[in-house]
Amino acid sequence: MKDEEELSYSRALVPKHNFLYKVIIVILLVIIGLLVGFYFAVIAPKGNAVEEHSSGDNEQVTITINDDYDTKQIGVQNIMIDYVDNCNCSVNYPEIGIEEVDSSIFKYANSLKYGFIESFKSSGEVDATKYFQNVDYQSYLESGDIIKIVFIDQITNEANIVLSQKEHTHYYRMSDGKEIDEYHSIIDTTNQIDSLEPLEGEDFSNFNLVYSGDIIKYATSEVNIRVEKDINSEPIDLLREGQAIEVRSGDGEWDTVLYDGKPFYVKSAYLTRKKNLHKDVELEVLDRGIDPDKPMVAITFDDGPNPISTPRILDTLEQYGVVATFFDLGQLVDRFPDIVRREEAIGCEVGNHSYAHKNLNTLTDDEMQEDIRKSEAAFIKALGHKTVLFRAPYGNANLKVRENWEYPIIKWNVDSLDWKTRNKTKILKEIRKIKDLDNHIILLHSIYGTTADAVETLVPELLNQGYQLVTVSELAFYNGNTILKTAEEYLSFPK
Ligand code: ZN
Repeated sequence: MKDEEELSYSRALVPKHNFLYKVIIVILLVIIGLLVGFYFAVIAPKGNAVEEHSSGDNEQVTITINDDYDTKQIGVQNIMIDYVDNCNCSVNYPEIGIEEVDSSIFKYANSLKYGFIESFKSSGEVDATKYFQNVDYQSYLESGDIIKIVFIDQITNEANIVLSQKEHTHYYRMSDGKEIDEYHSIIDTTNQIDSLEPLEGEDFSNFNLVYSGDIIKYATSEVNIRVEKDINSEPIDLLREGQAIEVRSGDGEWDTVLYDGKPFYVKSAYLTRKKNLHKDVELEVLDRGIDPDKPMVAITFDDGPNPISTPRILDTLEQYGVVATFFDLGQLVDRFPDIVRREEAIGCEVGNHSYAHKNLNTLTDDEMQEDIRKSEAAFIKALGHKTVLFRAPYGNANLKVRENWEYPIIKWNVDSLDWKTRNKTKILKEIRKIKDLDNHIILLHSIYGTTADAVETLVPELLNQGYQLVTVSELAFYNGNTILKTAEEYLSFPK
């Protein structure tokens, strides 16, 4: 575990030993990197079992079969992200490798997305940003040449309450690519799902900890121990940051703690299971001649890499010799590793944006750990190391998310609204509203052509205004933050 951590943080975190030690470590890492790269590029391409399959017209098609997952046996995972009309949709679907099947799957996945959007339009819901759609799927090789796909379409609200969950099952025949309609079924599983934990809440049944009864937790800051579950009730004592306390139970908002052998109450949001929640992450940046006294701005791009618009954005950055930060999705890193490598090759910073763009606040510990494991594996496979920084999908990171993802969490303080307007002029107008962008972090998305259009104007404009375009790590570093803290959220880095 220790070795993996040091290896994965190698690009940004090198222990402060002498120079020779650093050089030896770098050489060793390069050799390991080359060996790992050779393994993935030559010995084990894609890491998946691949089956040649003869379709109806005797053409050979390649089908990907995954040995390592039991619920996503067949196909390559793909994702559609949409924020259209203020709805937050993340739709996951497989690509099997048989054109006719894939076209049916895509159409169906797209119809689920539009079904969600239309239902909010017709309900007259004005602020749909409070709702999240997450479509996940399971894919199986059934007997003979039948593929079974189960789409799980879940809609939650801001309080992580499951509003609806439906399972749509489809069967396809590989030999002719046709869907077998008579087996298509929709099951409403909404009532089988307990409402997920509220924000900052913790459900003890989801903790995989080997406690026989009581749980030790630690204060995330100074916090009062109270007589009643009420912030106006009398405080009995004060917990200092990092101080441990025995927790008996919790209702999501208040934890019942044992103090002097008697039960008292502490706000759950200020107690964590991690003894050292805020670990140091030491930043190391290359010297590119950045002047700390001159204005600087960090442009960030989420949700990619996208095979069409991300390369266009990289072309613009390369043309002007500037850098940005890309918060990429592990799932797309798996699909387009060359684009992610190009991001890093031209000096950009790559950050983790989770594997499948789920609203992380709604995940159980197990689901969260699975998402982390798959996402980190994708970055290690593509780049040879984990990323230093993390940005949560939708910016949603409650205490449980911050405990599980052990990264500094980067937010933004300028939202270009590119996800909403999808219009070059409006994107530029939104950013130009901020008269002084010094030390700001701008949110953009690398998946839209309109964003790539806006970047062609934005980059020279910022340069003409005298801004240095920097990565998020550089922005932190040159403003005196050589160390960031895990589980801490950063919106910008004021001097
Ligand atoms: Zn996102």
